[in-house]
Amino acid sequence: MSTYVIDPPKQAALAVAGSDALFPVRRIYCIGRNYAEHAIEMGHDPNKEPPFFFQKNPDNIDSSGDFPYPPKTSDVHFEIEMVVALKSGGRNIALDSALDHVFGYGIGLDMTRRDLQGEMKKMGRPWEIGKAFENSAPMGPLHKASETGHIASGPIALHVNGALRQSGDINQMIWKVPEMIAYLSEYYEIAAGDLIMSGTPAGVGPISRGDDMVGSVAGLGELSVKVI
Ligand code: MN
Repeated sequence: MSTYVIDPPKQAALAVAGSDALFPVRRIYCIGRNYAEHAIEMGHDPNKEPPFFFQKNPDNIDSSGDFPYPPKTSDVHFEIEMVVALKSGGRNIALDSALDHVFGYGIGLDMTRRDLQGEMKKMGRPWEIGKAFENSAPMGPLHKASETGHIASGPIALHVNGALRQSGDINQMIWKVPEMIAYLSEYYEIAAGDLIMSGTPAGVGPISRGDDMVGSVAGLGELSVKVI
């Protein structure tokens, strides 16, 4: 057996509610503009166009409850999202079997350096610098679909320092969970360990050091994150 020339990186993973076992993370797909009111607030037409995705890195996940304010930005935004975790995958997955691949659901924040993302958009360049940085994916534990059922409706919200800032319903997603799985599987081979961040409702905005963010999705509890 070969050894590694450097220590292999740590496997990114999420806790699983009611279990000591961890869910290992392979990829993080994130959909853009998946709630009509958020598409409008970002200056786009919410009419149903093909979805688009970007990725965060698995090692951007942070379940510590702290979000260190990142460098090279002065406009970091919160985006509360439901996280979908896959236990299997494949290519060209049919819509009516897509949910069979779901392990469970969780709550995540798609933290965004909005100023850097905006500059990249303007220049037609990739968004990674605005989206895929250290600690940019605060996430809570996953809840097994076998226990919660599949989540297609229910409130999703984010409070900052106790004030309601984002509010919507999972049923307002333009692209539903099975549609996202089927669509992704046409372009990628999706697999066990993949996460999908399913988009954010309206109300995104900036945070500052010291702020307390509390996200919630009905049936999945809360995710509390302090900006440090
Ligand atoms: Mn997002």
